[in-house]
Amino acid sequence: MRAIRLIEPKQRVELMEIDMPPVGARDVLVRVKTAGICHSDAHYRSGMTKAGPLPVTLGHEVAGVVEKTGTDVKTFRAGDRVCIHYLVSCGQCYYCSLGSEQFCTSGEMIGKHRDGGWADFIVMPERSVFLLPAAISMEQGAVMMCSSSTSMHALKKARLKAGESAAVFGVGGLGSSAVQLAKAFGASQVFAVDINPKKLALAEQWGAIPIDASGSDPVQQIRRHTGGRGVDVSVEVIGLPATMRQAVRCLAPLGRAAIAGLSDRTFEIASYPELLSPEAEVIGVADHLAQEMPLLLEFACEGKLNLEKAITRSVPLDPDVINGALDELDRFGDQVRVVVIP
Ligand SMILES: [Zn+2]
Ligand SMILES: [Zn+2]
Repeated sequence: MRAIRLIEPKQRVELMEIDMPPVGARDVLVRVKTAGICHSDAHYRSGMTKAGPLPVTLGHEVAGVVEKTGTDVKTFRAGDRVCIHYLVSCGQCYYCSLGSEQFCTSGEMIGKHRDGGWADFIVMPERSVFLLPAAISMEQGAVMMCSSSTSMHALKKARLKAGESAAVFGVGGLGSSAVQLAKAFGASQVFAVDINPKKLALAEQWGAIPIDASGSDPVQQIRRHTGGRGVDVSVEVIGLPATMRQAVRCLAPLGRAAIAGLSDRTFEIASYPELLSPEAEVIGVADHLAQEMPLLLEFACEGKLNLEKAITRSVPLDPDVINGALDELDRFGDQVRVVVIP
């Protein structure tokens, strides 16, 4: 079968012909219909985030159709539409028993530690596979498995309650979902901060108050809109030290900032005025949980989460085109989400 693989960091990804993966007793073989291209993939290619052992097939946002099931699989049949939770976990270690399987001591992420979905097929343990309702397209189902679910996890970690206000820094892949999910959670006001007018216009269509950070300080703009108070919850999904600090500075007393944008850089907080005095909380967000998937799928079925406008383009399983899409992500381009259709 065909697969787009990372052979070495800092090099272009390549198309390879590889063997079909073996299907264990508890595994589901999925024919990939759609696989998203995520900013993390650009980080794996650049070497900023380490992926491997290499070579590895990239792609961790996957939806498709069940091709074949292992002998012990009871919940799926060939032909089922499914989407894939990208973590493979043991279900038995300390962290799995807490329901925090992203820290599973033997956990692996598809498209990073083991082969992912930029390929004709992917094999997954049954426990990481979810039925995709007919109301949700393959494209949406795929993209939801990373950007939306991580946004959902960020809002859950930040304990956003109905009636509270929220600010989302960055209306890219994650931010598009974070804005809509904050609304779905019942947030009173949702501010969407970006410098790209197209992304701000999209956020406005989803009911957010656009904050253009290209001209003046977004924190001051948010304070002006909230009578000086600030927001209860902020979510940073860009991964820049400046926007991480803004996400803390825009908080109201007792506010919570969920930081989900990937970066290996340090960010500063003025300890007394920005953290201690308002009793602010800064919360790290990594991945998401299988238990969060059902609510996410429900929001999508109800139309509260609609990513059709966030998916800008689909591309074939072609290494040149995919490398080009990764280049665009490196440059923070206009496109919000590109998906691969093998
Ligand atoms: Zn992703
Ligand atoms: Zn585990």
